[in-house]
Amino acid sequence: MNVIRSVLRYVRRSRWLAALFVICLVVDSAYSSLSPLSFKYLIDGAFIPKDLDMFWLVMALLVVGGAVAMAASILGERLLAHITERAMYDLRHRIFDQMSKQSIDFYNRFDQGTLMSRLTSDISALEYVVSGVVPNAIQHLLVISIGVVLLVQLEWSLTLILAGGLILLFLCPNLLRSKATRSSSNYREVHDRYVGTVDEMTKGYRVVRGLNLKRFMMNRAEQKLRDLYTAGFQVTFIYALLNRLPLLVFMILNGGAIGYGGYLIFQDKLSIGSFVSFYTIFLFVGQSVSSFSQLIPELFRAEVSLMRINELLDYRSTLSHADRPEPLHGFRESIRFHQVSFGYSDDRLALERVTFEIPHGSLTAFVGPSGSGKSTAMQLLMRFYDPQQGHISIDGKDLRHLDEEQFRERMGAVFQDSFLFNMPIEDNIRVACPQATDEDVREAAKAAQIHDYIMQLPDQYKTEVKEFGASMSGGQRQRLAIARALIKRPQLLLLDEVTSALDPNTEAEINGLIESLRGERTIVTVTHRLQSVVNADRIVVFQHGRVAEIGTHDELLLQNGVYKEMWDKQNGFVLTGNGFSAKVTGERLSQLPFFRGIPPEQLHLIAELFITETYDPDYRLIRENEPGDKFYIIVRGSVSIIRQGVPVARLEDGDHFGEIALLRDIPRTADVVVRLPTILLSLRRDQLLIVMERFPSIRSILEQSLQERMKDHSLPEGTGKEKGRNEHTMA
Ligand code: ATP
Repeated sequence: MNVIRSVLRYVRRSRWLAALFVICLVVDSAYSSLSPLSFKYLIDGAFIPKDLDMFWLVMALLVVGGAVAMAASILGERLLAHITERAMYDLRHRIFDQMSKQSIDFYNRFDQGTLMSRLTSDISALEYVVSGVVPNAIQHLLVISIGVVLLVQLEWSLTLILAGGLILLFLCPNLLRSKATRSSSNYREVHDRYVGTVDEMTKGYRVVRGLNLKRFMMNRAEQKLRDLYTAGFQVTFIYALLNRLPLLVFMILNGGAIGYGGYLIFQDKLSIGSFVSFYTIFLFVGQSVSSFSQLIPELFRAEVSLMRINELLDYRSTLSHADRPEPLHGFRESIRFHQVSFGYSDDRLALERVTFEIPHGSLTAFVGPSGSGKSTAMQLLMRFYDPQQGHISIDGKDLRHLDEEQFRERMGAVFQDSFLFNMPIEDNIRVACPQATDEDVREAAKAAQIHDYIMQLPDQYKTEVKEFGASMSGGQRQRLAIARALIKRPQLLLLDEVTSALDPNTEAEINGLIESLRGERTIVTVTHRLQSVVNADRIVVFQHGRVAEIGTHDELLLQNGVYKEMWDKQNGFVLTGNGFSAKVTGERLSQLPFFRGIPPEQLHLIAELFITETYDPDYRLIRENEPGDKFYIIVRGSVSIIRQGVPVARLEDGDHFGEIALLRDIPRTADVVVRLPTILLSLRRDQLLIVMERFPSIRSILEQSLQERMKDHSLPEGTGKEKGRNEHTMA
């Protein structure tokens, strides 16, 4: 059995302790098996002939033997605890080591529920094999072996008959083996999915509450609970059978032993003392065989756990690993994407034949509409995935052929959600470079402009970060994350949407900080907010998974293409009051198809009617089927459009939605849920009506515009994404 081989491998490091443990078991088992023999000497040698010396001799042997067996069993337990915990420590260590080395594909393959379940219940099943099943099995086997020898000595013919039954007792569980393994494996999988739902519920509780998704979540949970019930029923029943069968056979054997033994006594072929000894030893042996056979289901269970743990340990990343990696001594020239194509699934490419260069020492920005592929390009650059076609090179060397460790040493990364560990601030900064001195930590904190804040805290650099940094502001968390990335003095600093969840003032500060880091290192930043990258040396504009334009801000504006369109969309707003109050200009409104044709002075009046609304993530701004009376423009932030529970579009800075509500009293066609901290400008229908009464021409222009736009939506396929996007966002 694989599980036994694996257990032997796990305990190899403790082999001397294991040998000592087996000696203790032998002593203990020998006493248990031999002690019933005392009945033969007590009854036939002491009680019937009334021999007191014999009686005291047997009693003395029993007491001394018992004391030795007791000492051996206590020592054995202690050794076993040691052996088990060391084996489990090694196993957990191997799994954590494996997890820490893995790339993103591992975490896509094994979700959180699966990992939790394997690291807890599957490990526990193996722990029980080491601490309970194997030692008990050895002990039972010893008792059986010694017992059978004694039984043959006492009455061989009776032993022969019973031995056949004992073998049957032992073989019974094997009949159900494959069924038991299958049902156990199925139960674990269903259980993984159930744990995944618990995880989803705890992590997503804000969305669940915010969107009133209680019923949806309950339906999801109910299905999992039903699956768990069915799988649990099968597994419980089959394992109950496995436990019952040996007991049944044992009861029949018991009757046989008494019947045939009695017959031998009546025939004067067996003394009473020998029969009592025989029967007691038989009970011990039978009990051991029965207990041994009951351990077999545990081995089946553990076999499934072992398979699941080995699946983690044997997982090989889809990322290619060079057999002889090329060293990366430094980064001097450029990073190049050459004809790179990549898709998360086989049927759709997220990036298609993308080629561009990032010069050494530059600040390069990846921008583009939502879903255009900019984050995917960043993930490939971080080597979370490998391109499916083409390659990415650094100073002419393919990333796939480089020593990964050296590449990562030269790279620092900051993400949108900066995860902080629950440990002192200084350790959070030092985590990427454990050998860094206190001075290095301070320098990194100063470069990230967080030193002054840290010095104001009661324990300064020793202050504990609690709840993963929940008590800090978004900006402070990002600065700490930047300090953590800087401490390695990376030559390549990768920033993935680092300011998108921040308020305007903090965003401006962090942008200033990024500016101050320029020159010494190459910085690549992904952002959807163009204001942050006007000073970038090179801006790569993505659209539909391809590179649409490359240039500086000024060059791209002159090109009058996608970038210019995005720029115009994101501008025309004035933020005041610490960035929490916004205004839109009439000129900006004139760019919206809906308002096209309205004279500037009237647009100016309409612009005055917009009011600012700010929302936190997960807030449900609009509910499907509710009456609508407002039109919205996103000044900054992002929302998801969700139709019947399915996200259909993602809108961000400069996008608008809900214009039908300004003219028609029809229900909303989708939910709108806030994704990031968002500032919106909203216009109410009753407000617009007042202006329309003064200038009736506005109504006819808006009506005509709406008719045209609704007609546009009935255009055949080919108007593509825009068509779909408008359909989802108009109402
Ligand atoms: P955003 O700013 O909204 O994040 P983006 O320009 O960064 O957009 P990507 O995140 O790179 O775009 O996404 C490109 C395409 O790949 C999109 O169609 C997206 O739905 C898809 N995609 C992104 N991540 C995954 C993933 N983990 N699994 C499957 N598809 C994905």
